[in-house]
Amino acid sequence: TAFTSPPVEELLLSNIELSGYTKPTPVQKYSIPIVCGGRDLMACAQTGSGKTGGFLFPILSEAYTHGPTAVSPEGNGSFGRNRKAYPTSLILAPTRELVSQIYEESRKFAYRSWVKPCVVYGGADIGTQLRQLDRGCDLLVATPGRLVDLIDRGRISLSSIKFLVLDEADRMLDMGFEPQIRRIVEREDMPDVQNRQTLMFSATFPRDIQMLARDFLKDYIFLSV
Ligand code: AMP
Repeated sequence: TAFTSPPVEELLLSNIELSGYTKPTPVQKYSIPIVCGGRDLMACAQTGSGKTGGFLFPILSEAYTHGPTAVSPEGNGSFGRNRKAYPTSLILAPTRELVSQIYEESRKFAYRSWVKPCVVYGGADIGTQLRQLDRGCDLLVATPGRLVDLIDRGRISLSSIKFLVLDEADRMLDMGFEPQIRRIVEREDMPDVQNRQTLMFSATFPRDIQMLARDFLKDYIFLSV
């Protein structure tokens, strides 16, 4: 099976080829049609399984198919000093290392497209991250604590979110991020569960993760690879 079955968008396909990937990993093979079909997803997958591509490929494929949408009164992928960013995809992950890896992958696959990826995480200079947001942000990769900080500063609106991804959800809970995650997902500017597509990835599926899935996902498909 190649990435052409199911079909991913042409530009994405050529970026995937540039990266030297010849065929989807199992998690990609199953997640791409589920996500492109509009369904919410709870996937049990380990690091190293290719799960990053499992959510980035369908999100970018959808973005390229539908093109930039007028998302805010301030314009597409809002930019300019001290303006609010209106990302259309939000990916939450537990650590600086993980968000940086996801960001690097998204840069590879967003190459030559209008999609602007951004990354923010705690323990680093916030000024640099604010300047990055000023240059536009369509796809935001964030650790939960820093994202709450940026939202509280009025620099990020969640009102345009179409895709919400919780990656390594079990590790985020182990690290004590549940209050921050709930603050983000339950914010009033975050589109409700019926008006966004939500994807959760976790290595394990204990009770607290089942509860998050119940609260954040709608009629989801459970995938275990
Ligand atoms: P992940 O589990 O998403 O962290 O991916 C693990 C590693 O596999 C990363 O270095 C990816 O760049 C690589 N990878 C992901 N998908 C593929 C693929 N379809 N073909 C080859 N390598 C891949």
